[in-house]
Amino acid sequence: MKKRDAHVHTKYCPHGTKDTFDEYVEKAIEQGLSSISFTEHAPLPSNFIDPTPEKDSGMRTNDLERYILDIQAIQKQYKNDIDIKCGLEVDYIEGYEKETQALLDHVGPYLDDSILSVHFLNCEGKWICLDYSPDSFKEASNILGGVNQVYDLYFQQVLKSVETDLGYFKPKRIGHMTLVTKFQKRFKPTKGFSSIKDTILENIADKGYALDWNSAGLRKPLCREMYPDLETIQKAKHLGIELVFGSDAHQAKEIGLGYETLTQILETLTE
Ligand SMILES: [Zn+2]
Ligand SMILES: [Zn+2]
Repeated sequence: MKKRDAHVHTKYCPHGTKDTFDEYVEKAIEQGLSSISFTEHAPLPSNFIDPTPEKDSGMRTNDLERYILDIQAIQKQYKNDIDIKCGLEVDYIEGYEKETQALLDHVGPYLDDSILSVHFLNCEGKWICLDYSPDSFKEASNILGGVNQVYDLYFQQVLKSVETDLGYFKPKRIGHMTLVTKFQKRFKPTKGFSSIKDTILENIADKGYALDWNSAGLRKPLCREMYPDLETIQKAKHLGIELVFGSDAHQAKEIGLGYETLTQILETLTE
């Protein structure tokens, strides 16, 4: 199997590190990867107010052009060593579909790869970044009436992200489909969500989209699980959905992390 890490952040991430593109690429080569995708958080719609305290969830709009130029330069520099894809991790934000499509229409021609993710939930009028901190999760839970309700709303949004038309350049891969479990050791739902997860998977399969199989949760002390969970991965495989490994690295040393775990899991999965 081609060793690929298709979810990598960069120095353009305001909540990431200043590690350079060279450092990421050198690390990828050292790990024996044959392909990586840089998928920086796309700029958020200008009329959307980032609910995080530092307003640092997406890259600055002014940085977008430089980001693409930097990647084009690094692609050339390493063209004989590794396949480097230029991508973005785009937010699905309900009510901002038009703005999101406008961004994709504009930048799409320069992208080789991209991911569509849900990080923001509209909790009865108040936007919350679901994965920002345990406190932000707790706030969502308080507003919505419990942990189960946060899960419900999150999965409804993921389903909408799959169904919604965002134009020709809509990302074809769904990011960390179970990100809602990031703080699961503190906030446990009291029921399962297989039914809506199944619906999401069926829609992904119908559209021919892929799943970001994301190892970041393994590194989070309150999660300790990949996104998505094993049961979901197993079902995705049955449905023939392509699983694409992503470390979600926000620093060079995280490139490829969790890849071995994924490979071992893949071996245990039945067809
Ligand atoms: Zn990030
Ligand atoms: Zn993400």
